[in-house]
Amino acid sequence: MKRDFDIYLSPSHLTGEEQKFIENAFDKNHISASGENLAGFESDLCQYLDISSCSLLNSGTSAIHLALILLGVKAGDEVLCSTFTYSATINPVRYQNAIPVLVDSERETWNMSPELLEKAIKDRITKGKKPKAIILVHLYGMPSKMNELIAIARKYEIPIIEDAAEALGSKYEDKYLGTFGELGIFSFNGNKIITTSGGGALVSDNPEYCKKANFLATQARDDAPHYQHSEIGYNYRMTNLAAGIGRGQMEVLDKRVKAKRETYNFYKSELAEFKDISFLEEPEGFYSNRWLTTILTDSYETREALRLALENENIESRPLWKPMHVQPVFKNFPASTDGSSEVLFNRGLCLPSGSDLTTKDLMRVVSVIKKVLKLRR
Ligand SMILES: *Cc1c(COP(=O)(O)O)cnc(C)c1O
Repeated sequence: MKRDFDIYLSPSHLTGEEQKFIENAFDKNHISASGENLAGFESDLCQYLDISSCSLLNSGTSAIHLALILLGVKAGDEVLCSTFTYSATINPVRYQNAIPVLVDSERETWNMSPELLEKAIKDRITKGKKPKAIILVHLYGMPSKMNELIAIARKYEIPIIEDAAEALGSKYEDKYLGTFGELGIFSFNGNKIITTSGGGALVSDNPEYCKKANFLATQARDDAPHYQHSEIGYNYRMTNLAAGIGRGQMEVLDKRVKAKRETYNFYKSELAEFKDISFLEEPEGFYSNRWLTTILTDSYETREALRLALENENIESRPLWKPMHVQPVFKNFPASTDGSSEVLFNRGLCLPSGSDLTTKDLMRVVSVIKKVLKLRR
């Protein structure tokens, strides 16, 4: 499956600023579980997001897993989840042997539909089970309809975990995503807006959560001179080396967001003449980091023609996420759907969105797209 492209979808984009933090870790022989990069990156993130506490972890997936544990999600419990997402949102629900209840998207932001969420909650309550948590995803950096979703969560008293893995730097009504829910998670995987090579974070305004997350992430070691354990733990902590990369990346986060947004604007203006191609627009008060620029075409055939023509030119593009309720591994779980995310999957494409793309690269992508679309008119 993996192949080399001239232009990738979303490659890591290092600055050189990471180096000084990594060298410091080597100089001090702090390349593993402790060191000042961990404290530094943690405080950089909290300050940026304006949130009180943060737990640095080895992936976004482990952050979601710990968030579920912190909210007391156990075997047989139900968790409402966006179906239009990457499998990493749902897998941790299954690590807990809990049941994902998959909720479809609305068509304006492509994120969880408030109507279908409420429908799912009512349905599960009628069937005798109130869901334990809601995991909502801000896909491709676009904020979900937070006011509506939070109102429903409050009405039924169900806590929200925000999967902001793709949405660091995005804002909703001027507040950063990841800070609305009981808990928020981020990913610093190599393809995300900033990277630590691999890593994640759990954030919350309740410091008790992050304290407990750190405890669980280090094998749940009790306070004793010997190794003493009264709970099952995990090996989920970020290393000081990875945190060093994160510190360097934090220095350019706003620059990365700016570059991604410019890329989106470039594609949108270059392709404006094609009325059957649409872009994911920001509603009033929504601010996306534009992690990936996505387009919606008129048909599956157009989507595939574009993808294959780009591939032919060694340019990577990718269909939008295949919804979880149609994935073989999750298709038998309860779902509240109306076909929206399946339409998006069939007709949508992610375009190369690296923050280091040159105008020449972008022109090359656009010229392939234009050629295909003109032929299909
Ligand atoms: C990347 C991603 C994750 C998982 O993050 P990892 O750091 O790769 O474990 C979770 N949810 C979404 C929506 C993602 O895009």
